[in-house]
Amino acid sequence: MYHCPFCDLQIPSRSRLVEHLVKHTKEKPFRCSFCAAGFTRRDALNSHLPKHHAVIERLHTSRCSPPTHAMPVPPLR
Ligand SMILES: [Zn+2]
Ligand SMILES: [Zn+2]
Repeated sequence: MYHCPFCDLQIPSRSRLVEHLVKHTKEKPFRCSFCAAGFTRRDALNSHLPKHHAVIERLHTSRCSPPTHAMPVPPLR
């Protein structure tokens, strides 16, 4: 038994599974590489991607750049 990773349908043969998978991939050929979202059109995917881009950018800046308004440490005497 094979099962479809998209809808958990049980399918008896591999060729039937491949046939069945086309349903899912044909409906939404443009897949987001950051989450499980799929889109029927490339422009729909393109308008979805900035959501992740903003998150990634925020993570990147908070981790990689020093805090801009940190108090200067007074020199020890
Ligand atoms: Zn399926
Ligand atoms: Zn996504």
